[in-house]
Amino acid sequence: MIRLSKSDISLQEKNAVIKVLTNEFLGMGEEVRNFESDLSSYFDCPVACVSNGTAALHLSLQALGIGPGDEVLVQTITYVASFQAISATGAKPIACDIDLNTLTIDLKDAEKRITDRTKAIMLVHYAGGVGNLDAAYQFAKNFGLRVIEDAAHAFGSAYLGCPVGSNADIACFSFDGIKNITSGEGGCVVTKDANILKKIQDTRLLGVENDTKARFSNSRSWDFDVKMQGWRYHMSDIMAAIGRVQLKRLNDFSKTRRSLARFYDNALSKYQRISFIKQDYNSVVPHIYPIRISGLSLEDREQLRQKLEINGIQIGVHYKPNHLLSFFSDDSINPRYKAESIYSELLSLPLHTGLKQVDIEYVISNLISEIL
Ligand SMILES: *Cc1c(COP(=O)(O)O)cnc(C)c1O
Repeated sequence: MIRLSKSDISLQEKNAVIKVLTNEFLGMGEEVRNFESDLSSYFDCPVACVSNGTAALHLSLQALGIGPGDEVLVQTITYVASFQAISATGAKPIACDIDLNTLTIDLKDAEKRITDRTKAIMLVHYAGGVGNLDAAYQFAKNFGLRVIEDAAHAFGSAYLGCPVGSNADIACFSFDGIKNITSGEGGCVVTKDANILKKIQDTRLLGVENDTKARFSNSRSWDFDVKMQGWRYHMSDIMAAIGRVQLKRLNDFSKTRRSLARFYDNALSKYQRISFIKQDYNSVVPHIYPIRISGLSLEDREQLRQKLEINGIQIGVHYKPNHLLSFFSDDSINPRYKAESIYSELLSLPLHTGLKQVDIEYVISNLISEIL
């Protein structure tokens, strides 16, 4: 079976986990401190590690003071985690249309949805690309909005020569099993805003003030104060041990992902019916490889999925527009035409570091023979 995505775990990660298990200190301690310091060097920016990418988004929004009555702009085509993190604060995610070239937020559409309740814009770095990041920050500045980058797809990508996230207002990453690097589950927040960082350090530990410092010396606070709602969202040493090894392997992972995506681009460019995002793979590390097949209906796509599966190929869909989900449906007078019109044509082909060019050739020849 050629899987859509998968983790890449070597003996190094296994040994790192055994070392933590042997120490018999499994919670948030030295390893998390070390992973944070490795990540801070990589980003040249302060970092707080948390239990997953959704938690990173949730805590960032909360730290900005976003809550009931507030609205956050976000593209409708994203993992439901982006929407759930916003609604977890009590705020309302405002589903925006997408730009068809990059599948990132359409700022013209977003502008139509601004109200006096709008507090922030969440930028989703779809497939690892950041879209027009300068325009998005200018937009935020014009409307007085804070920016949260949902960079879950973009670990390793660069923008203007710096790692994506390093110059963000607030950037959130996911280290779940299939992301560009993993710590099992896990995630992190990257921000130069010291006030936001401090809040996240406390709220990830149930709001216990300064517990981060105690835990980093493998200790705990006992006589503490709590001043705000917190969550149990910290990272464990087991996760951090995996993440530290994965960070060292990032360059190898990036090379493989980029060369596979370039290979797809080259092979698919001769088919009129198929289009893909024109990413610059000198800077982007692709997390997924989405394509559009024009004229495909939902039924066609499901049939295609089943046929490919019989031939040992797993495909995916990133993503169903969130405003079509019951919990996030709304009666906006501004429909998201572009997102809805491409949804049935959208599918993702296998992309992970365990694949070889022959696998991609096999995927493509199967795909082409099904759709032509
Ligand atoms: C994976 C992902 C998240 C959430 O990360 P988790 O670690 O799974 O909680 C958020 N947004 C996007 C776009 C993602 O792909």
